[in-house]
Amino acid sequence: MDALVRLLSNFIRTVAIRLPDDVLSALKELSSKESSYWGKAVYSLMFDNINLALEKGVPVCQDTGVLMFFIDVGTNFPYVNKLYDALKVATIKATEEVPLRPNVVEPFDEKNTGNNVGTRLPWIEWNIVPEADYVEITLYLAGGGTSLTGNAKVLPPASGFKGVIEFVLDVVSSYGLNACPPFLLGVGIGATVETAALLSKRALLRPIGSINPNPKAASLERILYEKVCGLEIGPQGLGGSTTVLGVNVEYSARHPATLAVGVSTGCWAHRRGVIKIKSDLTYELPLYKGVVL
Ligand code: SF4
Repeated sequence: MDALVRLLSNFIRTVAIRLPDDVLSALKELSSKESSYWGKAVYSLMFDNINLALEKGVPVCQDTGVLMFFIDVGTNFPYVNKLYDALKVATIKATEEVPLRPNVVEPFDEKNTGNNVGTRLPWIEWNIVPEADYVEITLYLAGGGTSLTGNAKVLPPASGFKGVIEFVLDVVSSYGLNACPPFLLGVGIGATVETAALLSKRALLRPIGSINPNPKAASLERILYEKVCGLEIGPQGLGGSTTVLGVNVEYSARHPATLAVGVSTGCWAHRRGVIKIKSDLTYELPLYKGVVL
């Protein structure tokens, strides 16, 4: 248990202080394309911020968010029974040691728990992988500003994808500024409001630059990308040609009478990391080349 907690708290630390490789590459590419004076200045500050965080071992943004774990666990992973407790203890340990900002507030008490653990937080989504002996954990640190953009709605199917695009653009043009652009836009399409919302969050977990394998969903990603870029929100909302890190669409089948759409954003400091832990507690960090915990 101690070894597992140590591994997980070190993983949380890495996610808080270091942007994953795909986010860094996307930021570098966007900064080379941005031509506005203020946009260039913002990117320069972002890279100073990223380097200072690494040098000093502190979080890349002061808002370290609420912790959300998306877990694919094998039925033969030997520590499956201990995982839930280990994640909670690791969250408390990382909050003290990194430190992470205590962000968990009990809504009916208006009380901050002080350790990033509270009712149903950290949020944990479980997926069972039959016969596998590993666990793959994706951690997303959901900051307040970037979560303020979140929205979901059930449209009548007659609205079609025109309605989906209008809804997404309405949300992004109204609230996208809170998500410290350039943001990653996640769109979920499904049967009900909560599944579409969850799919939009899962869309943020996909690598930046990845394309939905369904050509029609990929086409929606392209259309939304162009339209959101056309808003010219720019880095930190100061105007410019680079507004999004990417657009990822995830979907499920829907009910004949519903076309639900969810919107989530991930800010420029998109702290989403993956760790794959094997049964002997050796691990891989696919999004952090060369990093050892
Ligand atoms: S939106 Fe992201 S970068 Fe901006 S304050 Fe929130 S967590 Fe930090």
